[in-house]
Amino acid sequence: MSEVKLGGLSKTFDDTVAVDDVTMTIPNGAFVTLLGPTGAGKTTILRLIAGLERPDQGDVTIGGRSVVNDTPAQRNVAMVFQQYSLYPHLTVRDNLAFPLRSPLLKTPEEEIDRKVLEVAEVLRISHKLGNKATNLSGGEMQRVSIGRALLRDPSIYLMDEPLSSLDAKLRSDLRIELKRIQENLGATLLYVTHDQIEAMTMATHVGVLDNGRLVQFGTPREIYENPVNLYVAGRLGQPRINVLPADLFAGAPTGAKSIGLRPEHIAQGEGKASRVKRVEHLGDQTRLHLSLDGHDIVTLSEHHTTIEPGDTVAIQPRNPLFFDASGA
Ligand code: ADP
Ligand code: MG
Repeated sequence: MSEVKLGGLSKTFDDTVAVDDVTMTIPNGAFVTLLGPTGAGKTTILRLIAGLERPDQGDVTIGGRSVVNDTPAQRNVAMVFQQYSLYPHLTVRDNLAFPLRSPLLKTPEEEIDRKVLEVAEVLRISHKLGNKATNLSGGEMQRVSIGRALLRDPSIYLMDEPLSSLDAKLRSDLRIELKRIQENLGATLLYVTHDQIEAMTMATHVGVLDNGRLVQFGTPREIYENPVNLYVAGRLGQPRINVLPADLFAGAPTGAKSIGLRPEHIAQGEGKASRVKRVEHLGDQTRLHLSLDGHDIVTLSEHHTTIEPGDTVAIQPRNPLFFDASGA
């Protein structure tokens, strides 16, 4: 495994700037997630690292060495695509074993069997080892793709929204498994997603992309607590951060245009009177939808709250974030 560096990386397709001057270091052994909406440039960044695209400008180094002139094979990266790519005529066992059967490796068959079974068990597909790849559900195929990548020994794993086609339960189980496997292997992993939960829960570092630009890079906590702008603030947090005029509450610094208030950063009991519009009981949390001077605000309440629509609740910001007119 190796440190991977992107330096001033740019890629334009026709008139579309897909990746715009991205500089980023993926430390050895890190689990880096790249978070951004569709079209932000996530897949293109992975393809540039893998060697499936050539940058217009900038450099990619793996382990301190520039690889921009290397073929994908020479770069030795393992990529898991959004769409699974299996050999349809092979069984699950043979699909998994494929990277280990490279003549260069000379891996003994019994070791191949052992490793394949180990990965299949972790990914819960051991009962399907004898099936043809085409006889699997989408979720099973994707697990085989992940398994095949894990059976290699690459400089870095590149994963392109590998869990997005799976159901919620499997997705959350595999998030935990993937994190565990990465830690055990000490693997360096770059994982792209538009799902903030995935980005936050597995990552040692998160990069937030906006239109091909890397707008912030830091630990999940830094990004959540100190977002550089409203765009980043709005990408993390469920329910979303409330964005309100800065003068709605007293105490905004001069130059502040808006105040960002996380739902959990609103104290109840004193402050300004707001009207309760809706109460959502979600089991693990209760959300209050409030209206204050015509502004909608979402906050959290105690589990077994007796607050009802029509009630009045006094609220006051705690840990507010302030943003200027440019959104920064
Ligand atoms: P993401 O993976 O974040 O959804 P992509 O990297 O796939 O984003 O795409 C970034 C932008 O580049 C998008 O506007 C997309 O339409 C464009 N793009 C990506 N690949 C190509 C291509 N091969 N030809 C033309 N435009 C492309
Ligand atoms: Mg993509």
